[in-house]
Amino acid sequence: MRLLDDIHCLYLDFDSFFASIEQQIHKELRGKPIGITPFKGSGNRCLIACSTEAKRAGVSNVMMLDEAKKICPNIILVPQTPALYRRAHNILLSEIESVIPISAIKSIDELSCDLDKYQRKVPMQIAHDIKRNIAENIGPYIKCSIGFAANRQLAKMACKAGKPNGAMIWHPKDMPEPLFALELGDIPAIGTRMLRRLKDANIHTVEQLYMANPKHVRKLWRNVTGERLWYALHGYEIKVPENNRMMFGHGRVLPPKSRKLSAAREVARFLLIKAARRLRREHYYASGIHLSVSLKSGYWSRSHPLPMVHDDQAVLAQFEILWRTMRGQASVYDIAYKVGVTLFDISPAHTRQLNFLLEDNDQRKKWEMLNNAMDSLNDKYGKTVASMGFIPVQNKDNIGGKISFTRIPSAEDFW
Ligand SMILES: [Mg+2]
Repeated sequence: MRLLDDIHCLYLDFDSFFASIEQQIHKELRGKPIGITPFKGSGNRCLIACSTEAKRAGVSNVMMLDEAKKICPNIILVPQTPALYRRAHNILLSEIESVIPISAIKSIDELSCDLDKYQRKVPMQIAHDIKRNIAENIGPYIKCSIGFAANRQLAKMACKAGKPNGAMIWHPKDMPEPLFALELGDIPAIGTRMLRRLKDANIHTVEQLYMANPKHVRKLWRNVTGERLWYALHGYEIKVPENNRMMFGHGRVLPPKSRKLSAAREVARFLLIKAARRLRREHYYASGIHLSVSLKSGYWSRSHPLPMVHDDQAVLAQFEILWRTMRGQASVYDIAYKVGVTLFDISPAHTRQLNFLLEDNDQRKKWEMLNNAMDSLNDKYGKTVASMGFIPVQNKDNIGGKISFTRIPSAEDFW
């Protein structure tokens, strides 16, 4: 592993991404505290994002609506428009690419770039050019923060430290002082559970973590991630293996009219069809399905194996069994606030090994052929014209292209 003596990475994170796009498009929202809700109208229970003005008042991105209103009584609620955020994501990427090539898109509002030896000399110029291009060619209400450091982990932290609208350089020669000004919880890899584990091990500050032995840190993490983080904090070049995709899933906060279990089932089925479609589009098969339902009476979730499949009939059949099990355990008058379906235990199409029972299963092959036919029809028309069973029409718009900080929806998600 190489200890880096220059800034090699740029990390960019948009400030209040969803809210700022809404403010760019809708003049009347500019300069005001706004909160993005999962759906239109009343009945929302939480926020999924908010504007910098709302953040200044103490509201945070994911917050229960009652609490947000208490903290910031004049907050303006705006329903999400995922298709708009996806379009904005795409044009913003091209503006950034006109200044510097993007090496990794980390989420819908975060990305990183590798700096070549010329770019390393002029980080402020690069940050300035990116911000100017966005302001002039897209709009001045969309702002971003940019961090520069030896590696991606440090650049991400520098970026966060400079928020909002920042441009922060953590040059190796200035390290590690800027790190020691942070709390442990400010380090992206440290969640509440890890924080507790560190405290139990008598590590209370970033400085203590920095000074610890990397092997000890690895032990605390119970895997190599801890050791990798330690080297990243010290400014080493970290080559992280790109994560292999492990699952395809969708979740949805339900609007009031979809909270009855019969209606929630339709939404869950639809989400599953979307997930299976993505699975096929990316040439994978799934060997497991997971269903989760946030019921009024409590949270219910369960997984079940699948025989390495990717067609709608196979996943829907297992879904129905899971759903019936949930119904059997829910109370008669229960309602659902949220549903989530995930296809997991994923393997690429070329590694599919059918057991001979399945190989012989002509029925399965027929379903797969039927599915291929439906996929090509839908592709041809650019919308869902054929599906297995009923698809709910109401509120369908945002179901597949749900807002997400970690996944960038593709155009097909909005069919
Ligand atoms: Mg952001």
